[in-house]
Amino acid sequence: MKPNKNYQNIAQSYLFSTIAKKVNEFSSKNPDKKIIKLGIGDVTLPLCEVVVKALKSASEEMGVKETFHGYGPEQGYEFLKEKIGQYYREHNVNLDNDEIFVSDGAKSDLGNILDLFDINNTVLVPDPVYPVYVDTNTMAGRKIIYINANADNNFLPLPDENIKADIIYLCSPNNPTGAVYNKEQLKQWVNYANHNQSIILFDSAYECFITDENLPRSIYEIDGAKTCAIEFCSFSKMAGFTGTRCGWTVVPKTLEFDTMNLNKMWLRRQTTKFNGVSYIIQKGAEAVFSPEGQKQIKENLDYYKENAKLISDVLTKHNIWHIGGKHSPYIWLKCPNNMKSWEFFDYLLENVQIVGTPGSGFGNNGEGYFRLTSFGSRENTKEAVERLDKFLG
Ligand code: PLP
Repeated sequence: MKPNKNYQNIAQSYLFSTIAKKVNEFSSKNPDKKIIKLGIGDVTLPLCEVVVKALKSASEEMGVKETFHGYGPEQGYEFLKEKIGQYYREHNVNLDNDEIFVSDGAKSDLGNILDLFDINNTVLVPDPVYPVYVDTNTMAGRKIIYINANADNNFLPLPDENIKADIIYLCSPNNPTGAVYNKEQLKQWVNYANHNQSIILFDSAYECFITDENLPRSIYEIDGAKTCAIEFCSFSKMAGFTGTRCGWTVVPKTLEFDTMNLNKMWLRRQTTKFNGVSYIIQKGAEAVFSPEGQKQIKENLDYYKENAKLISDVLTKHNIWHIGGKHSPYIWLKCPNNMKSWEFFDYLLENVQIVGTPGSGFGNNGEGYFRLTSFGSRENTKEAVERLDKFLG
């Protein structure tokens, strides 16, 4: 047996282990100091009431002969796909149910989708980036080229006809920067992809944080996207499903490349390699779309957004350049006094005991930047903001 040598080319990620090590060292030397973690990328509020109720009742059904469910459809139950379709229609996007594939979260499908593409395709990835896009392609041995996201383009790179790419990753609202593409900008990417017969893999895992009706929550709000884009979305941040696991992928039937239909290929891939998300979890996800569910998840999203506003306001007060935080749980700031990302990490830990994520961990262009998140508790976020205010002042 010869192992896949491409695994030797995956960069070891020391980011979160280095953070944990530094935090542990600091707290063992300073046991009386309270550390506040604003680096967290996971939700902290529990599942909302209607979801828990639906999960419980679906579990009961599973214990009764007449309502027991065995294998379900690999691509998801119609009851959930119907609700996801309705969610899209609210943003004027019409999808057929067989264009929606229920998944166990965006991350798996972002990796699995690569089964559909030839190994010789060139992949375009923005820098800084969510590392999954890079690592999954490196594992497969594909060539990756980077496009610069930086302060000059507000961390929203646009296509360059001189750079030819077959597979393009876009994430909006973005992790780690919190930047959001507007419709005109996304239209440029859609035009580029249709012109070059490329595919856009659009990660909309944070679309639920968008409140401005003019900003696109789905790439299919852009004319022409159904011939060049696959979209990945998730209940993780929308409804606190990070530990419950459910998401969906949209593969339009109009995606045809070299006479091959990507929707048919994905259906074939899923029915071969995936046996679906559990009935119980899909019932929980369905409850998210009930009027009560929408009200309850909005309360949680508003809570995170208020946290983000508190952080953003204190940075603005002290003239610290930052983006995100408005339509995103992430705030991306420029380290003051031209400090490097890790330098600023140490500085915050030492002086105010706040932990964030060094931007350099997301790519070369992240050097000199820092990511804070709004997923902490209100109490801790307020305390962190007060410390920052005093200290930066
Ligand atoms: N895409 C982005 C940009 C993310 O930040 C995350 C998780 O943090 C995911 C996808 C993964 O989402 P899921 O929990 O649905 O796998």
